[in-house]
Amino acid sequence: MPPYTQARLLVFKMIFTRHAAKEGLHSTINEERMSLQQKLTEERRGRLAAERMLELKKAELFAANRKLGRNTRELSDEIVGTRALMESMGAENRKVKSDLTAAHEKIAVVERRLWHSIETIKDGFAFFDGDNRLIMANQAYLAVFEGLEVIQTGVNFVTILQALTDEGIVDLGGMEPTAWRQRMLSRFQARHPEPEVIQLWNGSYIKMIDQRGPGGDVVSLGLDITATVQYERELDAARELAESANRAKSAFLANMSHEIRTPMNGVVGMADLLDDTHLNEEQRLYVQTIKNSGEALLVIINDVLDYSKIEADRLELVMAPFDLERACQEVIMLLQPMAREKGLELLLDYDLFLPTDLMGDAGRVRQVLTNLIGNAVKFTTEGHVLIRVTGIADAGTGNVSVHIAVEDTGIGIPAHMTDHIFGEFNQVENERNRQFDGTGLGLAITKRLVQLMRGEIWVTSEEGVGSCFGFKMEMAANGAIDTAYPTLPREIRRVMVVDDMPANRIILERQLAQLRLQTVGVTNINDALAKLNDTIDLIITDHKLPHLDALSLMENLSAQGSTVPVLLVSSNLVGLNDDPRAFNFAAMLQKPLPRRVLFTALEKIAPATEMPERPVTSGKMRVLAAEDNRTNQLVFSKMVKSLNIELEFAANGEEAVELYQSFKPDLVFMDISMPRMDGKQATQKIREIEARTGKHIPVVAMTAHAMPDDDKSILKAGLDHYLTKPLRRASIEEHVKLAQPNGTEPLFKPDAQDAG
Ligand code: ADP
Repeated sequence: MPPYTQARLLVFKMIFTRHAAKEGLHSTINEERMSLQQKLTEERRGRLAAERMLELKKAELFAANRKLGRNTRELSDEIVGTRALMESMGAENRKVKSDLTAAHEKIAVVERRLWHSIETIKDGFAFFDGDNRLIMANQAYLAVFEGLEVIQTGVNFVTILQALTDEGIVDLGGMEPTAWRQRMLSRFQARHPEPEVIQLWNGSYIKMIDQRGPGGDVVSLGLDITATVQYERELDAARELAESANRAKSAFLANMSHEIRTPMNGVVGMADLLDDTHLNEEQRLYVQTIKNSGEALLVIINDVLDYSKIEADRLELVMAPFDLERACQEVIMLLQPMAREKGLELLLDYDLFLPTDLMGDAGRVRQVLTNLIGNAVKFTTEGHVLIRVTGIADAGTGNVSVHIAVEDTGIGIPAHMTDHIFGEFNQVENERNRQFDGTGLGLAITKRLVQLMRGEIWVTSEEGVGSCFGFKMEMAANGAIDTAYPTLPREIRRVMVVDDMPANRIILERQLAQLRLQTVGVTNINDALAKLNDTIDLIITDHKLPHLDALSLMENLSAQGSTVPVLLVSSNLVGLNDDPRAFNFAAMLQKPLPRRVLFTALEKIAPATEMPERPVTSGKMRVLAAEDNRTNQLVFSKMVKSLNIELEFAANGEEAVELYQSFKPDLVFMDISMPRMDGKQATQKIREIEARTGKHIPVVAMTAHAMPDDDKSILKAGLDHYLTKPLRRASIEEHVKLAQPNGTEPLFKPDAQDAG
């Protein structure tokens, strides 16, 4: 028992004893004992409850204490962490601060250096902001304004312009100040201002270069170009002086050459006359040497004269109508003897669709051609020289853009020399060139002439293969540009071209193809005779051919009884006109052959005649139509009703072949699918017969299916054309017209046509 409980018991005992002594009564004592017992029990209970309460509070207090301790710990941990963080952040902060300071210092240094550099430039340098206000300018820039106070940071460009004019700093060259300022301001405000040169009062030249940045800022540079301008002026003056000296020299040369030419003409002329007199061998040799040397000298003098004239600006173009094709041919004819002597073929390929009637200086065009073609012949030992004339004619403006190329198979020019040779007295200097004479002025003159005619000249070349000199120029057509085709006789469709020169043959074949003629090319008489059949309506032959010439061809043809017309093209007709064997040619044409001459000859060709076979009674064209279907026959006859022809029908292929022989049609319309013998087989049979008789009449297929393969097999079977069903009157008439032989009655009777 705890001590204080004992103490309380003692107190109770004392109270009890005193009470008993005072009353002294037994019963009373018992009663008193009972109530005391009760009180004690209550007392104990109360004490126990108090003790329990005490325990409870103690435990609560303990728990609270523990919690408090935990919180305190957490809090102190937090404080420790935060403090550490604060410490590290502080370090970083200090580092950033010092870095920033360092960077600032560096920037300041760079800026100082940059500005220092800008200051050392002796040209003006300035910055403007987007509102045209001066941000900064270097001394050189400001120096122009000679300490004018308004010109300082912040000043507007407008004020700067004002100062320039008001103070007379800039030389306006007679321009109104307001106008000048306006011009300079609008230039400055442009997105990309153009550089501008201004002159200052003291004579110096400043080139203003301004560049506007994306933000609108402007970097402005004022370059002092006074020295350059000065230098250019001096150069100009020197050039002018040199040019006038050169002109004087050229004028002198031109006069001199002219003066030399006159007596030289006398020398050559007299030598010529002397040559015709009675001379002995030796004297003749002397005279001819004088003549040849004199002529050679004249050529040189002519070159010098021309060149001097161009240099002295004395050469003027004389514009007049001329025929470019004829000009080309004249030059070719002039150079033909030299080419022939060397065994070279001189060829002209003049674009069939290019007008020939042009405006220009014919003499100068000829001179350019002579120089280029002359060189080509001179520097070619074997092969050919081909002159190709092409171009575009604009019917609207009447302008013709002419392109002339002179192509040779000669020695060629090394690549590094191609520019050089257009210079004065420049030649390809090496051993091989020594064998060719010449002044080296030809191309220089040619180039000047082409330029004078506002043209361009160039060359492409390969050593040992050949060269091609080309030039192009614009010329006006003389009169309206005519694009009409010549009208050739209908019977002429296939032409045999006999020529051993491939280039020649190809040119001619191409021209004929452009006239919608078919061609067969052969290189000699034997091939020509071997390939000749009735599909050939005309032969165009070269005169001189390997082994046998064109006259033998003519003899052979006559012997075979062939009536096919033959057109002779010869580079030398002299003497032929008197040759009786030449009598049978349909025409004899001189090379080079102007296309107009060729066209006219073609237009006049009379086709091979087959007249004797035609009964004299009927003059109508005969048409055979092979068609098995009755209705279709009816349709066909209705479609040709208005035509003045004799019409026969065959009901199948066999009949068609029979009628081909008995009725002798001028044209056959052939249905493809027919009983017994189809259209293709029938046509093959007809072609077999024709191979023996030497005839060829047009056979036109009539087919219901137009498959791409169909027409191939149809044409392969020997049919010439084909029509797809349903047939149309216009296309039938078209074919009839195309096939109408000469000498038959007109297809349309005047009254029939009137009737519709
Ligand atoms: P020339 O013919 O009088 O020497 P040109 O000025 O006409 O003078 O030609 C200059 C040079 O260009 C010639 O000497 C020659 O070396 C070269 N040349 C010109 N045309 C041809 C060509 N068709 N083929 C090869 N070389 C050529």
